[in-house]
Amino acid sequence: MNLHEYQGKIILQKFGVAVQRGLVAYNADEAVDQAKRLGQETGTKWWVVKAQIHAGGRGKGGGVKLAKSYDEVREKSDAIIGMMLKTPQTPPQGKLVHKVLIAEDVYYPGPSATKEYYMSVLLDRASARNVIVYSTEGGMDIEEVAEHHPDKIQKEFVDPRVGLRPFQCHKIATALGCTGAAKKAMVKFIADLYRAYEGCDAAMFEINPVLKTSDDKVIAVDAKVRLDGNALYRHPDFAEMRDKTEEDPTEVVAGEAGLNYVKLDGNVGCMVNGAGLAMATMDIIKLSGGEPANFLDVGGTADAARVEKAFRIILKDPSVKAILVNIFGGIVRCDRVAQGIVDAYKNIGDIQVPIIVRLQGTNAKEAKDLIDNSGLKVLGAVALQEAADRVRDVLK
Ligand code: GDP
Ligand code: MN
Repeated sequence: MNLHEYQGKIILQKFGVAVQRGLVAYNADEAVDQAKRLGQETGTKWWVVKAQIHAGGRGKGGGVKLAKSYDEVREKSDAIIGMMLKTPQTPPQGKLVHKVLIAEDVYYPGPSATKEYYMSVLLDRASARNVIVYSTEGGMDIEEVAEHHPDKIQKEFVDPRVGLRPFQCHKIATALGCTGAAKKAMVKFIADLYRAYEGCDAAMFEINPVLKTSDDKVIAVDAKVRLDGNALYRHPDFAEMRDKTEEDPTEVVAGEAGLNYVKLDGNVGCMVNGAGLAMATMDIIKLSGGEPANFLDVGGTADAARVEKAFRIILKDPSVKAILVNIFGGIVRCDRVAQGIVDAYKNIGDIQVPIIVRLQGTNAKEAKDLIDNSGLKVLGAVALQEAADRVRDVLK
């Protein structure tokens, strides 16, 4: 589950991580009120108006603006709220901005120069460890740094059984070139950030930039946080942070129906039971010259109601040119699933795209006969290769 920047910062603060402070506003009047409140709390004279959407690169797209007066706060909030913000991480049409974060300006002048760093904490599956990824090249596009200056991105692996050791924090702070008070602040920042990552069962914390201020504080200016959805039951307060308006509406509907659905860009819809078989099916689709339009695992109990819901969800996607149903009947009987498919087909009505159904396992033969004799535009297949060939035929 992805969070907004302001929500990520609430979590960071709970774990003692210093952040650029801010308050959320849903319209320009509220934005000015929040700017006044923030001024009283922090003493800031300038503010940054930051669009809150689930995508990075907002600054480049015009979603982060500095405001030097209440009038500018009003003007800039008014321009950003309601805009379709386009960044490299949004869909091509952009994302509608519903709210902004009015944040304190933290790039104020002072005794030393400000410096932006990059830091993220995530799971490295290959080594089965957590990893802190960091760089002196913060603030800008980290993907670009990774491509052109991979040597400027460093990693510190953390054994989850032992946890992050103090010497590792010192090592990172030194490698980032921090000295004196800034080094002390950086060491604390890293330790607190890692505690936040572990403490809320996060999948990722990405702070870009981590800012060393001109008076040697170290704070999170941005926060991109993804929590592990499977661990949310342990964090009801964080679970409430879910913003469904930021998610793909079809994926939300699918989730509510107990279907594991992920929209993809291809032309062949697929409906499968079991995640492993779903992945294999996507491979088959590719091998037969198509591109999967989705990943869809109907789960272990592929009953008629679920099959129908899954069909309706796949059919919402206008780029779907064929549907491949690949069900393995273990406990579930194939002929029952076949009946479910035939019923769903009749209930939905007017399905134009060809459907190829491969049912294997218990009562597979009966199921194929049922499909073949239904009189519907449904093609039955028993073998995997047969299913692949039929997908190829209908795409021709
Ligand atoms: P992103 O573009 O979505 O990654 O949003 P960020 O929160 O990282 O902000 C983008 C950029 O805005 C930062 O890299 C800074 O250069 C700038 N910025 C953020 N906060 C401030 C601030 O308090 N003052 C000034 N002057 N610039 C800021
Ligand atoms: Mn950023």
